[in-house]
Amino acid sequence: MSAQASLPRDFFAAFGTTEPAPEWWDGSEEHLWVILRGIPDPEIPAISLVDLGIVREVHCESGARAATVVITPTYAGCPATEAIRQQIQRVLEAAGVTSPAIELRISPPWTTDWITATGREALQQFGITPPCTIAGNLPRALQFRPACPRCGSHQTEQISAFGATPCKALHRCQQCREPFDYFKPL
Ligand SMILES: [Zn+2]
Repeated sequence: MSAQASLPRDFFAAFGTTEPAPEWWDGSEEHLWVILRGIPDPEIPAISLVDLGIVREVHCESGARAATVVITPTYAGCPATEAIRQQIQRVLEAAGVTSPAIELRISPPWTTDWITATGREALQQFGITPPCTIAGNLPRALQFRPACPRCGSHQTEQISAFGATPCKALHRCQQCREPFDYFKPL
């Protein structure tokens, strides 16, 4: 059985990334997660939709090669939601899922606490300071003095409440003088 689906080479280029084509789905929920983990967030391609915590659940009927994916957008009315929905649908179809259904769930609302450890690391490496976890032990003051993703200093100042996207704020490090984005806790 080697019915490997082939995607056009530039498939992911449309999303500004160079992700490889997904593997042919083996029919398990576990593998669905692996496939979904290969889909980058359209706004921050360094992090996958799974690690951003947008993908909440997957259900499948392996016999019928059907699957349902439940997603929660980062905020209600997020303009990227439709693009994300279509992206998941296209990738799953390319992986051999016959009838992918993508369900939108808006309650409970998405929170930055759903970003995985892998996702937080990916943000950091991309030069975006990950949000402090609301449930964590960080002193509240550090929420407004996020660490510089380059040198780790907390000697930082906010330049603008909004960065490249509304979910980020623009900060500058007073140690290394570099500006950086801070993913605001939500
Ligand atoms: Zn710095």
